[in-house]
Amino acid sequence: MNPILIDGKSIAEKIINRVKKAIAKMPKPPKLAFIMVGNNPASEIYVAKKIAACKLCGINAKKIHLSYGCDQKKIAESIISLNLNPNVDAIMLQLPLPSYLEPEGLINKIDPLKDVECLTYANFGKALFKEFNEKEIYPVTALAVYEVLKYLKEDIRGKNIVVIGKSNIAGKPTAELLLKLGATVTVCHSQTKNLSTYTKKAEIIVSAVGKRNLITARSIKNGAIIIDVGIERIGEKIYGDVEFNKALKKVKAITPVPGGVGPITVAKLMENVLKIYKKRQNTNS
Ligand code: NAD
Repeated sequence: MNPILIDGKSIAEKIINRVKKAIAKMPKPPKLAFIMVGNNPASEIYVAKKIAACKLCGINAKKIHLSYGCDQKKIAESIISLNLNPNVDAIMLQLPLPSYLEPEGLINKIDPLKDVECLTYANFGKALFKEFNEKEIYPVTALAVYEVLKYLKEDIRGKNIVVIGKSNIAGKPTAELLLKLGATVTVCHSQTKNLSTYTKKAEIIVSAVGKRNLITARSIKNGAIIIDVGIERIGEKIYGDVEFNKALKKVKAITPVPGGVGPITVAKLMENVLKIYKKRQNTNS
């Protein structure tokens, strides 16, 4: 079998170009504010990548860096001041936050009209109940997975999909989206017993854990599609959840790490900025 190695960078580039063209026609560029707390090295890299993507798209990026130890109230005040600033169109709180902070309360301080990641109760709650609509915002990791399936022209209705990971950012919204699109979805997580009994039956596996080699090639069905969202950093290198080199020999298609889902997620974030910017403009006019 000749596997399809999915080139996330080229999928992302097309999305970025579309966003760039649309923004060039706008009267003024949108502004995205990032709030980052502490000095998590991985978060620093992700924010830098997102700011670089903003530059490519013509989005103004503003980074607010609060130091480690900064309390919940101070961060909430920063978010509220961005909510009230008419020049800021979109707000993103870089996660994970240092463990002494409580993320949910802070995420829900973001004005839903500026919640670019679609993580507030108001926006994610609405997204859960409504039919999926590509024109509306949705959590970006799930949108990146959707983009991969679209690229593969994969009709997932009735397909047996296993999603591994159930976080509010990655696993849960992805599972919900695939369910909306008609797949038969099983969600596995840290308490799942005998993970491989599920993965071996899956036609599509989406893994969002962050543990190198969690999914061995032996636990993958021949001809499966593998979408590897997970990232584990070891020294300077990053790895996905899947035993990539061995899995490549038996899959229909697979996303590498790096260069797979990651760049597409950043591009879908840019697209979400455009979507909420347009919506805010319509609301204000
Ligand atoms: P998280 O820590 O909040 O969630 C991890 C999930 O993995 C949990 O639901 C947990 O139950 C599950 N898990 C842990 N150990 C497991 C095991 N042994 N077997 C099965 N499930 C297990 O993390 P997150 O924010 O959801 O991110 C998950 C991974 O995806 C991380 O590596 C993160 O860096 C990566 N990520 C990548 C992108 C991207 O664009 N590529 C976007 C978001 C997250």
